[in-house]
Amino acid sequence: MQSIQSIGSDQGYDLFRHYATKLKFSEEQVDTFLAVLDTIEEILEKKVRPKINEWEKVGAYIDDAKNVILPPSMQSVIDEITKENQIYSLFVPEELGGFGYSQLFQAALTEKFAQYDISLHISTFISLSVLEALAFNYKEHFRPAIDKFSEGAYTGYVAFTEAQAGSNLENVKSTSELDGDEWVLNGTKIYISNGGHANAGLFLANNIVDGKPKGTNVIFVDTQEGVNTERLEEKSGLHVNPTAQLHFENVRVPKENIVATPGDGYRKVLERLMGMRLGVSMQATGGAIRALELAKQYANDRVQFGKPIIEFDGVARKIKEIEKTIPRMRAYGYTAGYALDRYYRGYIPAEIPGATGDASEKMAAESLPSVARTGIAHYYVSAAKIYNAEVVQNILYDASQIFGGAGFISEFEINKIMRDVRVLPIYEGTSEIHEFLITRASQALNLLPKFKTVSSNFEGSTVYEDFLMARFPGLVGKI
Ligand SMILES: Cc1cc2nc3c(=O)[nH]c(=O)nc-3n(C[C@H](O)[C@H](O)[C@H](O)COP(=O)(O)OP(=O)(O)OC[C@H]3O[C@@H](n4cnc5c(N)ncnc54)[C@H](O)[C@@H]3O)c2cc1C
Repeated sequence: MQSIQSIGSDQGYDLFRHYATKLKFSEEQVDTFLAVLDTIEEILEKKVRPKINEWEKVGAYIDDAKNVILPPSMQSVIDEITKENQIYSLFVPEELGGFGYSQLFQAALTEKFAQYDISLHISTFISLSVLEALAFNYKEHFRPAIDKFSEGAYTGYVAFTEAQAGSNLENVKSTSELDGDEWVLNGTKIYISNGGHANAGLFLANNIVDGKPKGTNVIFVDTQEGVNTERLEEKSGLHVNPTAQLHFENVRVPKENIVATPGDGYRKVLERLMGMRLGVSMQATGGAIRALELAKQYANDRVQFGKPIIEFDGVARKIKEIEKTIPRMRAYGYTAGYALDRYYRGYIPAEIPGATGDASEKMAAESLPSVARTGIAHYYVSAAKIYNAEVVQNILYDASQIFGGAGFISEFEINKIMRDVRVLPIYEGTSEIHEFLITRASQALNLLPKFKTVSSNFEGSTVYEDFLMARFPGLVGKI
């Protein structure tokens, strides 16, 4: 088996295969994954690339009747991916008759989408997170909804954030209270991606018992009655993905719509949705890959002082630095995907030398306290999230600098990517929160005697890493 070091800088599908094989996917399964990646790339290249500027200008908008509308050609690409190709069906767990959920595969797919449009990725992949929450807190009642997601008939949203509850989601004020056989939901959610456009989502609220909050609930909402789109935010980026304020007013859903256990929804569901953070890390990777492609092309084409600007050291060294950083981003993301897949299968969520994936390894995992296993899983995901979301900021700074004035003009794709990636250190846990999670995980990591950081796979540091460590000293020596 190849090691991550020997895969070197030209990883791509090789690194995917490396980890997929370690996860014991058969060669046939790996080939299926790679074929899906190729099919998706073909669709994105043909149907998305030529439309990016047009979509960006139109954006997602809300009409007088408060309907949220996407550019029509974007909607038809979403339909092709989710309805014709039924991409979500690949993520239905094997126990439920599907292909099996893989975070590693999710990471690789996200990298592809983000090379085209991060908004399109959000518009499609939030549905996957809702499907995941239902499938892994399974009960017969969720079967029709899981089917609707896998057929592309449902589009999802995750309504957690409130005005006073951002990083600290346990401070939500929304309420969920049982009335007979139904939950009654009330509250106002802000910054909800896909809000107003999606038709089924997760709602985080206090669990009200006898008039008092007793923990939190996550409730699956598959009705639109009482769910009102108050407004769409105007944003500096991600123009075609709607970000809405949603007001829930006496929304009624069956009592079986509770996801996980009453009173413990936040912790349980969040633990299962770590893949959303991994997704953000791969949005950063895809954005960086495209930025490099654009910057290289521009640097070769643009002539100043009688020669292509790539021949000037000030330009060439930026390109070299980005080239050096991208394999590291991918390594953080795929390693986190691999670790998460192991975690959700009941193994120690880390790279264990000589791991076999057999029963004895499951026993080894069980000998660790569950809080330590969860901490280690958080560590890998947070490392990928903070590293990728932060370094991509400076990558886009440098890549757009290569464009000179054009880098500041909205209609240039490099400018769009720069605007889009700015949110990556904010949503799915801010960088400051991930720095904290990584520091907190240190104790759990001490339980892994042969633990090594992802960065130890690479020689030396990049300027982007030096900047990251200066800004987040809690990460030094830890990731
Ligand atoms: C485009 C977009 C899409 C979004 N989509 C969704 C969605 O679909 N669903 C959803 O529920 N939410 C969504 N969000 C909300 C997002 O998750 C929150 O904005 C984010 O969690 C931060 O919360 P906040 O904005 O309230 O910032 P705050 O939590 O108020 O943080 C403000 C600052 O304080 C820092 N800070 C806070 N606590 C600590 C701490 N303990 N230690 C150190 N620093 C700290 C933060 O890092 C940040 O720098 C979206 C946001 C945006 C911008």
